[in-house]
Amino acid sequence: MENARPKQADDNHRGLECRACGCKHFRVIYTRAYRGGQVSRRRECRHCGRRMTTRERAIG
Ligand SMILES: [Zn+2]
Repeated sequence: MENARPKQADDNHRGLECRACGCKHFRVIYTRAYRGGQVSRRRECRHCGRRMTTRERAIG
């Protein structure tokens, strides 16, 4: 049941897809936390190697 799970920061990225090959498997290269609860992650596609940065913010 989706709503019963505790909210975790990484839930924001379950739907993330590589724009180049469309796969959903990423390796996190590094994680950087900022003041205020914002987190930036550098990710690399495991299939084609394309890199992207995602940002997430803790709420509450
Ligand atoms: Zn890819």
